[in-house]
Amino acid sequence: MAICAERGAQLTELRRQILELLWESGRPTGAYELIEALRVRAARLIGPPTIYRALEFLMSHGLVSKIESRNAYVPCAHPERQTNSLFFICSECGSSVELEDPRLDRLIAEKAALIGFRPIRRVVEAEGICSSCLDADAEGG
Ligand SMILES: [Zn+2]
Repeated sequence: MAICAERGAQLTELRRQILELLWESGRPTGAYELIEALRVRAARLIGPPTIYRALEFLMSHGLVSKIESRNAYVPCAHPERQTNSLFFICSECGSSVELEDPRLDRLIAEKAALIGFRPIRRVVEAEGICSSCLDADAEGG
């Protein structure tokens, strides 16, 4: 992956497979789901500490974000830009959409400065119902 190469980072086979699985999943995926998917897909038996270490690495390089409310992980759409991410997570189907807005960066920077706070990890999560689930509800009801 180009971004990793630029940053001199090592994208090992395991890290690459985790990234692929997260991209294919299309929704926040937990560490244990990843372990199971790797077992099925790659016939790899990987323990939780190894998965968490790989996820930590991917997060430290901006390739993956953690959705705290779900204790799950999503791939970052724009790892080359160190911006704040706004995730919309559907509580019905579990899908997530990542959006960026420079106003969010400004707002966080402004408020952090007010209280002398230095933000490091900036992920904003909004949970609700996605448009396809809303449509499905409307059709079904
Ligand atoms: Zn949904």
